[in-house]
Amino acid sequence: MTRFNTQLVHGLPVNDNNTGAVNPPIYNSSTYAYESVDTMPRWDYARSGNPTRDFLERQIAQLEHGTRGFAFASGLAAIHAVLSIFKPGDRIIVGKNIYGGTYSLFNEYFAERGITFEAVDTADYDALDAAVSGRARVTFDGRELAQTSAAKAVYFEVLTNPLLQVNNVNRISAIAHRYGAISIVDNTFVTPYLQQPLDLGADVVVHSATKYLAGHSEVTAGLVVVLDDEIGRSIYFAQNRFGGVLAPAECNDVRRGIQTLALRMDRQQENAQAIAEYLLVHPLVKSVHYPGVRADRAHVLAENGLRGFGGVLSFEVVPGVDPGVVLDNLHIFRLAVSLGAVESLAELPCRMTHFELPKAERLKVGITDELVRLAVGIEDASDLIEDLGQAFDKAYEAYLKNHAELDTFSQVASGVFA
Ligand SMILES: *Cc1c(COP(=O)(O)O)cnc(C)c1O
Repeated sequence: MTRFNTQLVHGLPVNDNNTGAVNPPIYNSSTYAYESVDTMPRWDYARSGNPTRDFLERQIAQLEHGTRGFAFASGLAAIHAVLSIFKPGDRIIVGKNIYGGTYSLFNEYFAERGITFEAVDTADYDALDAAVSGRARVTFDGRELAQTSAAKAVYFEVLTNPLLQVNNVNRISAIAHRYGAISIVDNTFVTPYLQQPLDLGADVVVHSATKYLAGHSEVTAGLVVVLDDEIGRSIYFAQNRFGGVLAPAECNDVRRGIQTLALRMDRQQENAQAIAEYLLVHPLVKSVHYPGVRADRAHVLAENGLRGFGGVLSFEVVPGVDPGVVLDNLHIFRLAVSLGAVESLAELPCRMTHFELPKAERLKVGITDELVRLAVGIEDASDLIEDLGQAFDKAYEAYLKNHAELDTFSQVASGVFA
């Protein structure tokens, strides 16, 4: 067996390539000919399967240490397929801080089709145990339900967005298994380079491959990896029948992205760490959310079976400073949602990624109006830090100007200039 970095570059051997091409071919064919009416060919129709997609699906299964992989047209298509294995009446426990699109898919689609979702702080193991067992009475949208049966699944993200709380796959999966529930992990922010959740007890891993795996902001894609054959068959059914499959050319985009995953992630983490340390001592910054700057960083890594904290971080500006001025004056960081690509992106969660969350709900999970999220790329850290520095200077000028005007106003109001 080859090791991880070699697997990133080569995947599993391709046996149908007689040309010497070093890359697996992209099969632009929606249909595949039968040799005769009596034969059943390996491939017949591209939605059901094709060799380009098969290469990527086998590769992600290999990288995540699963038995079977599936490629979808987006992360949400992948999550939709996974959730479709549940039935009306099933209860699913969901981590409190999940991706907004996932939250909406659960709450506004599946909940209306009879599946019950309950949001729980997945770092509170007693609360999680009570919720999975059916003893607790908390629901996704605050309504109270009478519960009797154990949950069918626990769904969570390893690093939460945008506050970068760390969820312990091992402990959460153990609680799920105690009551016969499966553990479903969104590994988008972490990638198999930093953690393989299936090794830690998870049953299903999902990815928005749009982010780190593809890594170049040029494709939307989703991946699922499973261990269990029966779950695999159900997810294959959903893939083939809903048909939200990833097209061959885009499977190749993800494959090519995966080849440089480790190199990109190393630089992104190094840059994120440098930026987090810079922000920590900046006078306009109130708080920094990045596990890499915690004093117990080594312990957090070891305890959670992580090999790093990835390239996303967030911070709050001090009161009175407008985070919008910081963001509008960045030149290297682009003002955009998404993450995990080679270029650095910055955004204001309350107005961009998390604007759909009701304000009270948003504040409850710690996403304040002052919170800025950075998705760090592979540029020179010094350029990124200088970019932030000059944007903070602009924000400080705006702050002083604003306060001078306020002072003038209060002096006028109190009759000093009368
Ligand atoms: C982006 C994202 C998704 C959704 O993936 P798409 O490819 O945009 O459909 C799901 N989970 C997480 C954590 C994400 O960041």
